[in-house]
Amino acid sequence: MPNQSLNSPKADILVIDDTPENLNLLSAMLTQQGYKVRSVTKGSTGLRGANAVPPDLILLDINMPEMNGYQVCEHLKANDRTREIPVIFISALDEVLDKVKAFAVGGVDYITKPLQLEEVLARIENHLMIWKLQKQLQVQNERLQQEISDRAKAEEKFAKAFRSSPNPIAIATVSEGRFIDVNPSFLRMSGYCLEEVIGHTASELDLSKDKEALTQTIQLLPNTESLYNLEFEFYTKSLEVKIILLSIELIDLAGVQCALLIANDITERKRLENEFISLVSHELRTPLTSTMGALDLLAAAQLGTLTEQGQKILRIATTNTERLIRLVNDILDLERMKFGKIFMRKVKCNAADVLTMATEEMQAMADKLQVKLIVHPLAIELWADPDRLVQTLTNLLSNAIKFSKPGDTVWISATLTEHNSIELGKNEHSLTKDTLLPNCLFTIQDQGRGIPKDKLQMIFERFQQVDASDSRNKGGTGLGLAICRNIVQQHDGKIWVESILGEGSTFYVLLPLTAS
Ligand code: ADP
Repeated sequence: MPNQSLNSPKADILVIDDTPENLNLLSAMLTQQGYKVRSVTKGSTGLRGANAVPPDLILLDINMPEMNGYQVCEHLKANDRTREIPVIFISALDEVLDKVKAFAVGGVDYITKPLQLEEVLARIENHLMIWKLQKQLQVQNERLQQEISDRAKAEEKFAKAFRSSPNPIAIATVSEGRFIDVNPSFLRMSGYCLEEVIGHTASELDLSKDKEALTQTIQLLPNTESLYNLEFEFYTKSLEVKIILLSIELIDLAGVQCALLIANDITERKRLENEFISLVSHELRTPLTSTMGALDLLAAAQLGTLTEQGQKILRIATTNTERLIRLVNDILDLERMKFGKIFMRKVKCNAADVLTMATEEMQAMADKLQVKLIVHPLAIELWADPDRLVQTLTNLLSNAIKFSKPGDTVWISATLTEHNSIELGKNEHSLTKDTLLPNCLFTIQDQGRGIPKDKLQMIFERFQQVDASDSRNKGGTGLGLAICRNIVQQHDGKIWVESILGEGSTFYVLLPLTAS
């Protein structure tokens, strides 16, 4: 390759000519122009030199004894090491130059003697440039071929994993949420055949409990980025309900934004888990209640007076037993709600009353932890179960207070709003139908420790806490938000949280004003 640096030659040129005067002339001229020149007088020597150290260009005389220029060129072109080297033929004016033959044996050009300095240089530079560009093109071509082959291999791997994965997998367009491919596991889980799924949306197939939820989640993917382990109730073709954990990734398929959905069917695991939890809770409730009764008796000093140390231990035992009772009650409460055994007693109630009741209930806790409560009530009528609504707001307030520092403020307010769930999108946990009807939006804002982005949805699931020590240190059960979500959903509402780590969190509860 020509080297443009000051000290190294521009290019390595081999001149093969049996006339020493010609050789000297060319050699002197090219050396002066910064080229490295090797000159030989015999074709065979030139071939050996070219094979040993391939030059960047060869100037080749046609009329030579032993082996003429055409023959030398044929040898060069037959050898892999020298095939690509550009060859320029030199012929004397009085010689008959067979131009067709010169090109046929692989020459790129020819010059005639007497040699014109400018012409020789121009042609050499020209061909060196062409050769350089050809080489670049070749390298680029090889790189592209490699990329294509790598990509084909990756696609083949993906296709194999897609087809044989035990996990149901689907690919849908982000723009419309239409399925463009699903794997055999997906078909087995859903009960549909390929033709029934391809080209349709999850909403058209009624794949989730809330008709629009899955399609909306797919369409919101560019905002939410990847989503991991979302719990979904999935409806099969025969209307069987499956609980799936869904992970969604944004992928690019030939320039089209698509969602890659990977599901994990946890129906059986959930059933066993629920059975176990409810069994344990039922079994625990009676002994816990009697333990509490015994502790009350001890505390009332009806069985004798305890020492100060004894009273201290009794207080610890009472606090822990109360916590266990709360946990068991919460589990049973949630279970009853899930199976529709708790009916919301919806009546006309006032948002301001509900807000005031919840705040009054939490005032003592706020005072104790030195957290200021600021309330902005709104006198507006709602169709809701006031007790359950107070339970929801109390739980959100209790979390806001317990995750605040002394001196912080917690704001609780209600506003009238018209909302569209698409706009709420980003961190919303429960997606329901779009609605532009007037809603009441309750907002509970704190200046506490905040919640990491990847936990914003998870904390609404049972027993999910940001920090495993939260239940111990803050006295929670990890069930409060799951209960809140259940109550809100039974009011056809939505609950979600936005948060900045270290700056605070805002929980939103959006409720329709009237019954749907
Ligand atoms: P818990 O009984 O543990 O409070 P919840 O279901 O009410 O259970 O809350 C689940 C978890 O969510 C909490 O343990 C905590 O990690 C996190 N969390 C809830 N509210 C807040 C908040 N306002 N600020 C920071 N973290 C919160």
